[in-house]
Amino acid sequence: MKTKKSLELFTRAQNVMPGGVNSPVRAFRSVEMNPPFIKRANGAIMYDEDENEYIDFVGSWGAMILGHANSEVLEEVLETISFGTSFGAPTKKEILLAEMICDAVPSVEMVRMVNSGTEAVMSALRVARAYTKRDIIVKFEGCYHGHTDSMLIKAGSGALTNGTPDSLGVPQDFTKNTINLPFNDEESLEEVFKKYSDSIAAVIVEPVPANMGVVPPKDGFLKFLREITRKYGALLIFDEVITGFRISYYGASGYFDVSPDISVFGKIIGGGFPVGAYGGRREIMSMVSPLGAVYQAGTLSGNPVAVTAGLRMLQILKDNPHIYQDIEDNANKLAKGLEELSDKYKVDTKINRVGSLISMFFTKEDVVDYKSALKSDTKKFTEYFKTMLGNGIYIAP
Ligand SMILES: *Cc1c(COP(=O)(O)O)cnc(C)c1O
Repeated sequence: MKTKKSLELFTRAQNVMPGGVNSPVRAFRSVEMNPPFIKRANGAIMYDEDENEYIDFVGSWGAMILGHANSEVLEEVLETISFGTSFGAPTKKEILLAEMICDAVPSVEMVRMVNSGTEAVMSALRVARAYTKRDIIVKFEGCYHGHTDSMLIKAGSGALTNGTPDSLGVPQDFTKNTINLPFNDEESLEEVFKKYSDSIAAVIVEPVPANMGVVPPKDGFLKFLREITRKYGALLIFDEVITGFRISYYGASGYFDVSPDISVFGKIIGGGFPVGAYGGRREIMSMVSPLGAVYQAGTLSGNPVAVTAGLRMLQILKDNPHIYQDIEDNANKLAKGLEELSDKYKVDTKINRVGSLISMFFTKEDVVDYKSALKSDTKKFTEYFKTMLGNGIYIAP
């Protein structure tokens, strides 16, 4: 592997950008490497500045579900760009995209486009609090919901004490209404609801957590979330920024047949452009300005280029439902291969997979929550990651 050009760029980048990157995971610090700088990509293949070739298993963190530089998406994007790139005024394709999202996810009757998953989560929480007139949000350890202040809370804090911020710059006051519980643990959630019954606005969850590695929800866990939130008058928010249009065209709510009150989308629905969206029941979404008193706005929200890319992407997925079977079959084949090799070389691994979402942990114990995910041997993973990258396999660090 040649690294000369990437290394030069990384050195230069670090002078003018924190850590040389615009999003921390890209710096490859957890795997003690310098990141390759990507120059171009097509289909499943990415090339870096030194012309190393990689099979890309990250796909821009899920956004590029059709592979890079899909010709149909690109063609329509190029045409749209030639008509102007931003008007700050309503456009027709925004309706088409909203209709597609509402059609795919029946619990979403109205939707608002924003510019990132973070922004969508932030707005969803605001609406949930306004609708219920309550303040507390329950989340689960290891679930990532973007970098909005109230979601940056330390694991293991929050149930009995006030939530402790997991980042400098977040005032204690901003996390004191967030409770962070172990995923897949019905008992602790029941306790919290008994204690704070009248104050919990919403439970937010990645229906299939994929930001601590993939952790499948236990049988019935999502249905339990639906029932307990309903019982106590709280809302259920599915953060489908990864799972939406990924584990099925109908997202996790379709896959598991659970209807949340609010759904949050990102990644895939932007077709490779910066996009997020949040939506839900008409009654709830009617609280958003200008209809209602929950303020939320965005200069570039519903941007015509981003909307075009997302719309074309969803259209292709809708017209070709075999894609979901294909990528699930591929992930299953990959899981089987990794399991066989683990046995052959006597390495302790656990492979978790839901649909096409897959990850391998270096531990022999089942990975069911954040605590068990932390048991994965990170030294072994670093070794594995370096070897894979050196062999042209680009996986998530
Ligand atoms: C990526 C992600 C986010 C944040 O989206 P950004 O567009 O990076 O702000 C939120 N929730 C989940 C589940 C994500 O995977």
